[in-house]
Amino acid sequence: MESNVFCYLPVKNGLSFTKETWGMIEWAKKIRTEKTKMIAIIVHTGIQSDELKRLPFDEVYHVKLDIKKWKIADYHIQAFRKIRATISDQKGIYLFSSHPLYHEIAVRASTRYEGSIITNAIEVTWDKTEASSLLVKREIYKEKAHEFVTFLDEKQQYLTLENSILYGTEQYGKPNFVQEIDIEPHILSPIQFLLEEQVDWKELKITEARVVIGIGRGVNNGNTIDSILQLAEILNAPIGGSKVADELGLIPREKRIGASGSTIDSDIYIAIGISGSSQHLEGIKGVKHVIAINNDPSAAIFQRCDIGIVGDYEEVVPRLIESLQAERQGEVNVKHLHIG
Ligand SMILES: Cc1cc2nc3c(=O)[nH]c(=O)nc-3n(C[C@H](O)[C@H](O)[C@H](O)COP(=O)(O)OP(=O)(O)OC[C@H]3O[C@@H](n4cnc5c(N)ncnc54)[C@H](O)[C@@H]3O)c2cc1C
Repeated sequence: MESNVFCYLPVKNGLSFTKETWGMIEWAKKIRTEKTKMIAIIVHTGIQSDELKRLPFDEVYHVKLDIKKWKIADYHIQAFRKIRATISDQKGIYLFSSHPLYHEIAVRASTRYEGSIITNAIEVTWDKTEASSLLVKREIYKEKAHEFVTFLDEKQQYLTLENSILYGTEQYGKPNFVQEIDIEPHILSPIQFLLEEQVDWKELKITEARVVIGIGRGVNNGNTIDSILQLAEILNAPIGGSKVADELGLIPREKRIGASGSTIDSDIYIAIGISGSSQHLEGIKGVKHVIAINNDPSAAIFQRCDIGIVGDYEEVVPRLIESLQAERQGEVNVKHLHIG
């Protein structure tokens, strides 16, 4: 099938392009064929027109919303509808990121336009046996297996790509045209954005947090874990841990990390008093950066970490807190400097 590739570009807070944006563009380039076009759909909150004019697409359509509207999927759907009506050839593959907002838009758009949808793709290739169809690999059973699926018909095809495969570097081009589409003032959503509140670390799930602390048997020998609680407070990081930590009653069962517990994919994982058994490491496969604190330099966790600190956690953690506080103080001072 000769299909245009439409990218509903992920933009951070509607304002800036990130590695996810460039990653989606790379996937679109892999999927497109010589005869097809790459078309960008951008719903944003104020990206400069200069930036839009140098995106590597054939056509760029964009809608500007204020941030409160941008956070609500209803407005995206209305923007999408208006953009779609402007595009002459609407047939093709529509790429979305699997971020919750974009996922919702993809699902609702596919239902509205009776398209087919495949979600959470981790790889997309052209099916070699059936050259006209896309072969999509997706993870199932909490990433313990994967399956291959394909679209059966040539209706509009909607595909959400897992964030873990969306990484790329900045690249530029010269679109044939960039068109701004105005959706004001006719639209009205029954939903109003009020405010965003940060969830306290005690409530935050270890599978959803950007920073997670993990504790193991090593902290059970110590006098206190007060410093770890303080670290959690400062970083707004929920505390999970090893199977042993769970069995010792240091953490609740649902906060166990590993083969028999949860799999986390935080940006940072701080493992304290954890040896790094294979079963534990199974649960932190998707973590971007691991910091390990252990008093045994030969502990296996040091093989998996980006920063390793050899020492007693009761000495190391308070020093870590001190340096974090000093850094934050520095930030406050800098702000005062700017203001004053
Ligand atoms: C079927 C099966 C499933 C399992 N599933 C899981 C799972 O999902 N998750 C999991 O975690 N485990 C799992 N396990 C258990 C796993 O094999 C390990 O026993 C467990 O991970 C070890 O936990 P730990 O690192 O807390 O303890 P340990 O291996 O005892 O390590 C404690 C570490 O703390 C360090 N330490 C001690 N004192 C200090 C101090 N004062 N400061 C700093 N460091 C210190 C020590 O050097 C040591 O490295 C499973 C096992 C089986 C058989």
